[in-house]
Amino acid sequence: MRIDLHTHSAASDGTDQPAELVAAAGAAGLDVVALTDHDTTAGWEPAAAALPAGLTLVPGAEISCVALDGAERPISLHLLGYLFDPRHEGFLAERRRLRESRLSRARWMVDRLVADGLPISWDRVQAQAAGGAVGRPHVGRALVEAGVVGSVDEAFARYLYNGSPYYLRKAEIEVFAAVRLVRAAGGVPVFAHPLARRRGPVVADELIARLAAAGLAGLEISHPDHDEPDRAHLRGLAADLGLLVTGSSDYHGRNKAVRLGAYGTDPAAYDALVAQANGIRPVAA
Ligand code: AMP
Ligand code: ZN
Ligand code: FE
Ligand code: FE
Repeated sequence: MRIDLHTHSAASDGTDQPAELVAAAGAAGLDVVALTDHDTTAGWEPAAAALPAGLTLVPGAEISCVALDGAERPISLHLLGYLFDPRHEGFLAERRRLRESRLSRARWMVDRLVADGLPISWDRVQAQAAGGAVGRPHVGRALVEAGVVGSVDEAFARYLYNGSPYYLRKAEIEVFAAVRLVRAAGGVPVFAHPLARRRGPVVADELIARLAAAGLAGLEISHPDHDEPDRAHLRGLAADLGLLVTGSSDYHGRNKAVRLGAYGTDPAAYDALVAQANGIRPVAA
């Protein structure tokens, strides 16, 4: 069984359309793929409609969150929610709020870049996002398109990194509230890449322990942004706290180098995750 539980389509900041993504997952030999676009479920239907034979789709989302307590400064983090009911009103309203904030925030960032003479425009950034949940990778692609940088990675390193003068925080859900919302909608919450240090400050073990007590189901450990010492540390923590362990590529199409299925989840952990869900079921072709 090959199981990849974290991917992005053009419904957020990946470059494959949802239908292309599931076709690519099938061609890559995956048995299970989760679609986890940032703050949106817009890709679920087109992905389900295009599922190739033999591939199971786990509908999900990656929710923009913030940890406010126990830290000197707020820490941004990502929560994966799987198999939640997309119609749950409170969660639906929160996802809409996050997407709307992404729009005004990206606009602010573009205005700052333009004011400093960079040859991009809000129109080109919107064209990159093509109606999906807009994010910094779309600004990065506009900078690539304009010939300012050679890659999205370079755009992040020079202009878009956390704390850059061109960076603005976006709306986020307080992470304990997000865990409760995902559970309230029947979903299963997993902490995405908890120790992805290159993106900024990461939370303390103590916060993860309190999240586990508040309903967190698992930790995403095998991930391209984790080195082996951090993985080993997280495996110990997951064992201590009774948390599931997942792994995934965090595929973004051409916006990142990682390939579909490059990192994966053990079948037993996947089965345990599905067993905790009572929002919706995985979709099989
Ligand atoms: P945003 O959600 O708009 O704040 O953008 C964050 C997203 O950009 C993350 O979810 C990643 O997909 C991507 N990202 C973050 N850091 C980098 C980086 N250094 N290079 C390329 N993509 C990145
Ligand atoms: Zn992303
Ligand atoms: Fe993430
Ligand atoms: Fe992601």
